[in-house]
Amino acid sequence: MNIETAGAQTINANPTMPPLFLADHQALDFINSLVSPKEYTLEFLTDDAAVLRWLEKAGFPTEGGAAAVAENPPNELVTQARALREAFRIAVAARKKGDIADISALNTLLARSNAYSVLYWSDPERVPERVSRRYVTAPADLLVPVAEAMANLLTTETFTLIRKCENPGCSLWFFDRTKSHKRRWCSMALCGNRMKVAAFRSRQQKQLEQAEASD
Ligand SMILES: [Zn+2]
Repeated sequence: MNIETAGAQTINANPTMPPLFLADHQALDFINSLVSPKEYTLEFLTDDAAVLRWLEKAGFPTEGGAAAVAENPPNELVTQARALREAFRIAVAARKKGDIADISALNTLLARSNAYSVLYWSDPERVPERVSRRYVTAPADLLVPVAEAMANLLTTETFTLIRKCENPGCSLWFFDRTKSHKRRWCSMALCGNRMKVAAFRSRQQKQLEQAEASD
């Protein structure tokens, strides 16, 4: 089932609503820009500007992004970003299951690899500084670093530590970087507390039923 259609209704996040950065990995945070509890689907990548804001907040380079977006048809960036996100969501789920998935959307972006170096040298006492930059001529170029983060996750990370939130009604993924490797929730505030309260209530209910049965 496609998660885009899983929720009953897709709600666009208000531009002032901060996106979720709780996955402890940029590529998984990208998946989490679409939040799908059972009742509805919340979309953070609502338009080109929202994608630029998301990339910047996530720490991806956005230099030249606004111009690239302005020079191209509207919604090109957001359409490509969403397509990449869904391809990656399927790939992560497949990797998790020990299956394979179509990663051609990632490969298309990886082939645009556009990094170059710039040297800055102004102080005779110091070694020149080397800064990494990227060519951004089309909206797709902005997604290349995202695809690279995705490629790193799929190829180098320990997948037992990459998990979906244990709340069955929650679509969020995370990278468990805790020392004990026992992270269970996207966050305590969103799901952990709620699920613990639910588990407590169900235990209480069972005890009550057992007590009544033994009366
Ligand atoms: Zn959750």
